[in-house]
Amino acid sequence: MRECIFCRIRDGRVPAQIVYRDEHCIGFQDIRPKAPVHVLFIPVKHIDTLNDLSAADSEGIGHLVVAATQYAKQVGYAEKGYRFVWNCNGDAGQTIFHIHLHLLAGRPMGWPPG
Ligand code: AMP
Ligand code: ZN
Repeated sequence: MRECIFCRIRDGRVPAQIVYRDEHCIGFQDIRPKAPVHVLFIPVKHIDTLNDLSAADSEGIGHLVVAATQYAKQVGYAEKGYRFVWNCNGDAGQTIFHIHLHLLAGRPMGWPPG
């Protein structure tokens, strides 16, 4: 089976604008940005959907969330605000089945989301 696109980005086999990397997670620019800042944070470990998380993933996912908040602060959006989005399966619009946190910032955002 062809490996998922985000695993290939993780391994440097598909180009991406990587803005953050550590032992547990990677942040890179979304190829079709929906806001002036649109960065995807993925765990290094391949996980298909949020439904596949288990207690053993708590530390790694917590680490990813904290890394994304630190990145949002570093690029200057702590005070203005930003949004985190995780899509799970069809109704939510998940298209890439390697879980990812969307960091969106740089414009006012509506609520409820579409
Ligand atoms: P989702 O709909 O939550 O699964 O989000 C998938 C996101 O991945 C979308 O915002 C796409 O624009 C983005 N995307 C798809 N392929 C790539 C890629 N090769 N590099 C960066 N972002 C991508
Ligand atoms: Zn993957």
